[in-house]
Amino acid sequence: MRSNPADYDLVAPGNLQTVISLLAEQPGKWLPIAGGTDVMVQYAAGKLTKRNLVSIWNLPELQNIEILPDEIRIGAGCTYTQLREHEIVSREFPLLAQAARWTGGIANQNRGTLGGNIVNASPAADSLPALLAYEAELILVSVRGQRRVPYVGFHTGYKTMDLATDELIEAVCVPRCFADYFHYTRKVGARNAQAISKVCVAAVGRLRVGMNTVIGEVRLALGSVAPVPLRLAELERIVKGKAIDADLLQLVKRQTMAAIQPIDDIRSTAKYRSVVAGNLVAEFLEQLGGGGSRHG
Ligand SMILES: Cc1cc2nc3c(=O)[nH]c(=O)nc-3n(C[C@H](O)[C@H](O)[C@H](O)COP(=O)(O)OP(=O)(O)OC[C@H]3O[C@@H](n4cnc5c(N)ncnc54)[C@H](O)[C@@H]3O)c2cc1C
Repeated sequence: MRSNPADYDLVAPGNLQTVISLLAEQPGKWLPIAGGTDVMVQYAAGKLTKRNLVSIWNLPELQNIEILPDEIRIGAGCTYTQLREHEIVSREFPLLAQAARWTGGIANQNRGTLGGNIVNASPAADSLPALLAYEAELILVSVRGQRRVPYVGFHTGYKTMDLATDELIEAVCVPRCFADYFHYTRKVGARNAQAISKVCVAAVGRLRVGMNTVIGEVRLALGSVAPVPLRLAELERIVKGKAIDADLLQLVKRQTMAAIQPIDDIRSTAKYRSVVAGNLVAEFLEQLGGGGSRHG
């Protein structure tokens, strides 16, 4: 059954303290709404169980992009437009800026927020592989104070996460340590713009140059191939210190395919996702070896 647009209550306290107090006083009653690009779609489809919405759109406390010496703290309420237009985000975290450019159309980028993408927790969400590759951490806030958790492990299963009902994501922190890394991302969808991904890869890496040039460090992350976005930590360990040659690329394809759990759905087949994921991780390493640079 489709919902009647008037069939919900919306309050907009306008500051973070009042919002988290409301979430704490009436646990589970209030659903935060930021840009509403997921919530209102669910609502219109009759899939929203909560009828009391508390707006966190434009809360000043969630809007900052703070540049610190060792990290950048991106307010969870920042939109894709803010991300893709931010000079330092674009320069130092191009995978995140590219994900912002890929997300929906311009109207969606003006409303959709990074915090909303994380909590909506779609396995196909575009910004999440980039957050994994950059080893992001989340600052969560409630009336009990703040806690900081690594983003890897935050999603515990399909649409489940380490977030209490009275908590909000306040900010996403990314360390400023990837200046000399090669950054690679690919989104494979039905078309170039406004498509949900069949497979999405975000990766960073650098070589260890010497008598024999080998892989120094890599971070590999994939979306749309499992119930949660995946970091391929085991494969990262396997390739470290290895020369990039044809044998390694074959091994990487096999290991990638073994590490993921893709499904058949309306957008693609498990088999297609599996082969493409393996090919893309191999392509990343090939380009890393060739000294290339790819952001999209
Ligand atoms: C036309 C269209 C195209 C789209 N295309 C893409 C795409 O290409 N790629 C993609 O990844 N997504 C896409 N989306 C999905 C959506 O735009 C994103 O997931 C967006 O980031 C959601 O942000 P929001 O602020 O609108 O979230 P909302 O809809 O406001 O909220 C989503 C969920 O997050 C929770 N939430 C929001 N902010 C916080 C916070 N700070 N702390 C705690 N909980 C919070 C809400 O309670 C809700 O459960 C598309 C959506 C539409 C309508």
